[in-house]
Amino acid sequence: MELPHNLGRRVGILGGTFDPVHNGHLAVAEAVRKALDLSSILFVPAFLPPHKPTYTISAFAHRAAMLELALAGEAGFFVSRLEAQRVGPSFSIDTLKALRLWLGSGIELFFITGMDAFVEIHTWKAHRELLDYASFVVIGRPDHCQQSCGQTVATHFPGYTFAENQGCWQGEPGRGAIYPVAMAPVKVSSTEIREAIRQGRSVRALVPASVADYIGSQGLYR
Ligand code: ATP
Repeated sequence: MELPHNLGRRVGILGGTFDPVHNGHLAVAEAVRKALDLSSILFVPAFLPPHKPTYTISAFAHRAAMLELALAGEAGFFVSRLEAQRVGPSFSIDTLKALRLWLGSGIELFFITGMDAFVEIHTWKAHRELLDYASFVVIGRPDHCQQSCGQTVATHFPGYTFAENQGCWQGEPGRGAIYPVAMAPVKVSSTEIREAIRQGRSVRALVPASVADYIGSQGLYR
């Protein structure tokens, strides 16, 4: 598996469909890196998202290429194509296991997810086991991030309690923590971008210029 050598010791993982990557994804990565002092962030496009999308997703090669363009020049942000090497749906637990095996136990992994996804975490394959391999970082709106996160933790992660001095929920020693990170909402989604292009509207305010150029030159989302 190809991974950059300079990931450092505190590595964030941002999974998604990235069809296409947009400024909201970049804002999330930046906010988490700052809040938790991460050394790098790996953007991991899903080869086959397990929660079946309601539309035909673009080829993995296009989605990964747009990520490469968006992250060029962003020090510490990298694309990983590891989910393209597996057969079947891209389950996060398999990705975390592979990364842990590859990177060894000396590196801290932080699996980043939006609040929308986190409240549905019980529907994910082996959701409790995820914390054997990484900590969770849950991004939510500043007004109710910790409260919403706390409700999901209480329901689906028995044994986790909030450690005020660490600003996170902790479980048994050796298991990952759950960090709430508050971030002002960035009003953009890939759905909105695909829809805008279909309607002939510009998306230059929503994605990096290189991504907008790629979408145009490849004729995506028309
Ligand atoms: P779609 O509209 O196709 O469902 P999306 O814009 O939600 O896509 P994904 O690739 O599915 O993008 O998202 C990857 C991750 O980024 C998810 O954890 C999602 O919650 C988060 N995310 C996406 N957009 C935003 C945003 N504007 N603000 C905060 N988090 C976001």
